[in-house]
Amino acid sequence: MDRRRFLASFASTCAFAPFAASALSPTPAAPARSLAITLDDPEAEASYPLLSADARNAAILSALDAAGGLRAALFVCGKRVDSAAGRRHLRAWADAGHLLGNHSWSHRFYPRTPFEEFSADVSRCDALLAEYAPPEKRFRFPYLKEGDTVAQRDAMRSFLDAQGYRSGAVTIDASDWAIDSRLRRRLAKDPKANLTPYRAFFLEHIAARADYYASLANLAVGRAIPHTLLLHHNLLNALFLGDLLAHLRGLGWQLVDARAAFADPFFDSRPDVVPVGESLVWATARADTRFEGELRYPAEDERYEAPRMDILGL
Ligand SMILES: [Zn+2]
Repeated sequence: MDRRRFLASFASTCAFAPFAASALSPTPAAPARSLAITLDDPEAEASYPLLSADARNAAILSALDAAGGLRAALFVCGKRVDSAAGRRHLRAWADAGHLLGNHSWSHRFYPRTPFEEFSADVSRCDALLAEYAPPEKRFRFPYLKEGDTVAQRDAMRSFLDAQGYRSGAVTIDASDWAIDSRLRRRLAKDPKANLTPYRAFFLEHIAARADYYASLANLAVGRAIPHTLLLHHNLLNALFLGDLLAHLRGLGWQLVDARAAFADPFFDSRPDVVPVGESLVWATARADTRFEGELRYPAEDERYEAPRMDILGL
């Protein structure tokens, strides 16, 4: 499919043309589609309805284990796991063979943070992760925002290089956090609320974004790449990650270990664009004049999903 047909297909099948969710389905001739699970922001001290922090952590690990011992990547924000419970959770992830990545200590918004402060914040999380002797160093920017100017962007690229870090980029960006937030609000009002509609929309949303970014990658990168799906270590995934993994497999996605996905050279690419960030596929397309005027910014946000969530009564 060429770019025009690709964009037209999104325009004709969804309300947020030309970018948003589509019902594109893989054809028998489509290349194999593979993705790895990555989860950001474990919160060891956060109190949510239904499940304790320990139970949430155990449920997410159990869902990955049940999917054939799938190895994910957990991107850790230091301030949220700087406790006995947090260290226990990280130890469980490390012992199960998952990749522990750096997501900074304080989850600052880099475009509005001086480089010196931001880089020091990254180093602070590095010191915490060193306790778990991660065999590799991967960094993921908070909010997926990697700099608004060339100087800002390149300062962190040089810093990460010097520290031995490689990219922990997302390729399939999504807004699971927005669904989680509505689900928790509902449970706070009604602890016995029916969660089936949240589960259904979660599966629908992630499958749609996966389709979108896989199609965009085929055009912008010129080949099928192993994808890294952005999810969060939250109540929604503690409840439904297992269902999501089964759903994605049913749609023809091959689930791969995060380390195997990150080993693809695509993750070492550095699109020459500002502002830079979002999905690495988005940034790659953004740097390509063929896609001029075709990509929304921000690439993902609650605002794009809110109308449908409102209709569904979430
Ligand atoms: Zn985050």
